[in-house]
Amino acid sequence: MREILSHLTQQLPEAIAFLEKMVSLESPSFDKPLVDDFVRIVGARFAGMGAEVEFVSAEKFGDNLIARFPGRSSERVLLLGHTDTVWPAGEIARRPFKIAGGRAFGPGVFDMKAGILLISMAIAALQKANGGLPKTVTVLLVSDEEVGSTSSRAVTETEASPCRAVFVLEPSLPGGALKTARKGVGRFTLKVIGRAAHAGIDPENGINAIEEISHQILKLQKMTDAARGTIVTVGVVQGGIRSNVVPAEAAAEIDIRISSMEEAERMTKTIKALSAELSGARLEVRGSITRPPMERTAETERLFRVAQKVASSLGIALTEGSTGGASDGNFTSALGIPTLDGLGAIGGGAHAIDEWVDIQSLPQRAALLAGLITERL
Ligand SMILES: [Zn+2]
Repeated sequence: MREILSHLTQQLPEAIAFLEKMVSLESPSFDKPLVDDFVRIVGARFAGMGAEVEFVSAEKFGDNLIARFPGRSSERVLLLGHTDTVWPAGEIARRPFKIAGGRAFGPGVFDMKAGILLISMAIAALQKANGGLPKTVTVLLVSDEEVGSTSSRAVTETEASPCRAVFVLEPSLPGGALKTARKGVGRFTLKVIGRAAHAGIDPENGINAIEEISHQILKLQKMTDAARGTIVTVGVVQGGIRSNVVPAEAAAEIDIRISSMEEAERMTKTIKALSAELSGARLEVRGSITRPPMERTAETERLFRVAQKVASSLGIALTEGSTGGASDGNFTSALGIPTLDGLGAIGGGAHAIDEWVDIQSLPQRAALLAGLITERL
């Protein structure tokens, strides 16, 4: 490991140049042409490293990138990440890539262009040190992770299925801790149908959909239950057409976070069973769990111990934690494949304008990934 780490440290200037190139090539989730260009650049790099590269075309979002690296053993691992960022085109002009105080800044640097960099650093270092990879490695970079992974979920599940383990290069928790549990996510919409009437002439003939949805919003917000790890957020509300008309319609968008599949089922039932308070009002509930929770299983724990062992050989005390945010690791973990997440860079400010990555720790993080690819799993 020491030899790999010193090689990675020597390669750091070249690695930072590639990071700058990636950050400067913007890749907003909803901008297919930009993401497609970005994906081609990354694909060319992996192809130059000996991978068989495939672009899985997507209609609405950028193409998904699969890079298959041969290895000495047929045991296969999946390195998982995403190419899209939350930042709109043009953000780079306001916040160009820069380095200050040992930190790299720029849109998408932490979430997760530095994660893509770590993948290429780890693979290149293993090839250099051992003349090849100890295991067969599939790299999958999807293009719609920041907007729910609806178009890439099937690809992720297909690529993960034959793998012994999945390593997700999403940003680490503060200080570099891995993510061994993530909450699952549900998205629901609640529509209330009332009856319109003149607010001054015959309000008694109306059924106020906004009044009804107000009752429902309070019920929903009270479903948040810290002890169960459940969070309910009504994030969007719409209703009414004019102030002098009793509103006939109102709607709310609801985000729920849950820690287990049992809780996912319980909450789905509870939300679908909401009933109207005002006589004559009607409710329509749609939606479902969109990402299952990533639960900390015995297999996850075992994988984390392996990571800890590798880290300690690098002089790092590796810790773990959980998060309310979801990633594509939720899908692979729900398939029963041991999944370690948060293996990306050390930094902060994901989805925020002060997003940054710690430069000095990049070789260590790449060495950690290289060690995980090497270890018996
Ligand atoms: Zn991410």
